[in-house]
Amino acid sequence: MENPSTPAPRQPVYLDHAATTAVDPRVVEAMLPYFSVAYGNPSSLYRLAAEAKNAVDRSRTTVAEILGARPGEILFTSCGTESDNLALRGAALAARARGNHIITTPIEHHAVINTCEQLAQALGCEVTYVPVDRHGLVDPDAIGRAITPRTVLISVMYANNEIGTIEPIAAISRIARRRGILMHTDAVQAAGSLPLDVDTLGVDMLSLSGHKFYAPKGVGVLYVRRGTPLLPTQTGGAQEGGRRAGTENVPAIVGLATALRLAYDHLEDEVTRLQMLRDRLIAGVLGRIPDTVLTGHPSQRLANNASFVFAGIEGESLLLQLDLAGVAASSGSACASSEEGASHVLTAIGLDTVAARGSLRLSLGRENTAADVDYVLDVLPGIVEWLRAMSPLYAAGSAVAGTGTTPSGASAAPTTGA
Ligand code: PLP
Repeated sequence: MENPSTPAPRQPVYLDHAATTAVDPRVVEAMLPYFSVAYGNPSSLYRLAAEAKNAVDRSRTTVAEILGARPGEILFTSCGTESDNLALRGAALAARARGNHIITTPIEHHAVINTCEQLAQALGCEVTYVPVDRHGLVDPDAIGRAITPRTVLISVMYANNEIGTIEPIAAISRIARRRGILMHTDAVQAAGSLPLDVDTLGVDMLSLSGHKFYAPKGVGVLYVRRGTPLLPTQTGGAQEGGRRAGTENVPAIVGLATALRLAYDHLEDEVTRLQMLRDRLIAGVLGRIPDTVLTGHPSQRLANNASFVFAGIEGESLLLQLDLAGVAASSGSACASSEEGASHVLTAIGLDTVAARGSLRLSLGRENTAADVDYVLDVLPGIVEWLRAMSPLYAAGSAVAGTGTTPSGASAAPTTGA
């Protein structure tokens, strides 16, 4: 069989918006003056600096409005990873006298999981990973059952970066609040798709990352509810109310606020448009390619996420062939290194490690059209068929192991690691 991806691509089709997005030209325009015109250090005392400080203040107010928060509750950071690190490590350090138990899930981003592991190893924290079901959903009651008198923090992501499942954050927050426990959510993938009102969500801390919603890389937000005990993890100057030292990245902060405003001014229309494209993509892939399953929740999923597992193929070979055909996609998280093998998210929803290797994540964004979806639906079936024809792992009718009707994690006991 001839390699199906050799014909020249119709166009490059970018379907990896969960990894990063292009900076919106309106965002670039808003940022430009702060590089070389109003470039003062916001902490300095002359007018040039005041311009930069005002820009940071205005950006803080914009972000606060969209989150339903007070400006003083918004901290600018260098990325989503830093926001997650500060939330977990800062809260755990501040709570040491009261307790040392953290509850999270096994499908969190490595920014949360690896921080929990370090807190366990270096500080003796106890971490409970409450399992998710085969769709990646965590049960709020299971979180409630994992609480002990030593629990100080619950961290559950708002939406998963690999499979797009949206978690019941408000329900988990209600349980946390009743028990006097801090609640953090990693909303990095939710921004630009889901409402971010912190009171409706009931969270004490929430992480965002600019480059997921058409702002530049290298800037993030941590919302910290007033009164939340948090020990700074980066010490130095008095920036960000003394909770995150370091000279502010003024252009990036302006870019983040501009991009967030643009995303939330048009949220409903864009979400409806993306859902239609996503559903066309999912129906097309499942209808045209046998022995394929949709990963993540069938309906409670991000508007832009279509993720699959194809029996009998390696995700990496699939990505290379798609790239040759002009399609940029991912086999899961852009942050997971290949030597790690199978994705921790896919194994947590019950896939075996071989099946999990055949994963593909297509994440749509602002510039995608129905023509892009149709192009992928034209080229993908041929590529999968070609790879399967060469695969010793595949025989027609192969099931994707672990995707049967048995829920994977739903009935499993939480795992606890100190
Ligand atoms: N959390 C989630 C859910 C993510 O998807 C990512 C990035 O992919 C991060 C955190 C880390 O964000 P950043 O790339 O800004 O460090």
